[in-house]
Amino acid sequence: MNMNKTLTCPHCGKEFPYKGKKKFCSTACCQRYNAKIYYHQHKDEIEFKDKKKERFDKWRKNNREHFNDLVREPSRLSGIKRRKFRKENKLCFNCGTKILDEYLSCPECREKRRLYTQTKKNSNKIVMKNKK
Ligand SMILES: [Zn+2]
Ligand SMILES: [Zn+2]
Repeated sequence: MNMNKTLTCPHCGKEFPYKGKKKFCSTACCQRYNAKIYYHQHKDEIEFKDKKKERFDKWRKNNREHFNDLVREPSRLSGIKRRKFRKENKLCFNCGTKILDEYLSCPECREKRRLYTQTKKNSNKIVMKNKK
């Protein structure tokens, strides 16, 4: 029997020494991995969405003062950093694939964006029509 066997953690990809029946490098990874599976199994259920929103609202209420510092500011900064990096390296600012022409985004993302703005415009029109 090989005692130096190592396993690869399915969550973080780290190699760790094989011990008994352990599948993950740590309890945290095990929990996160299972939470991820649970999330993907239930994410489309309305009940799950409601629960998630409820929990988030509660958390936001408790952290109202810090909310901007905790969420908005870091995500804004990381967004700026990512866009800058992608622009400098000629990558699509949206998905990060290599761009071969002079645009800032790849043809797929441009098409998606076009469809998105189109449907948004159309739905705005419908809303305006309904208001009359
Ligand atoms: Zn791990
Ligand atoms: Zn793209």
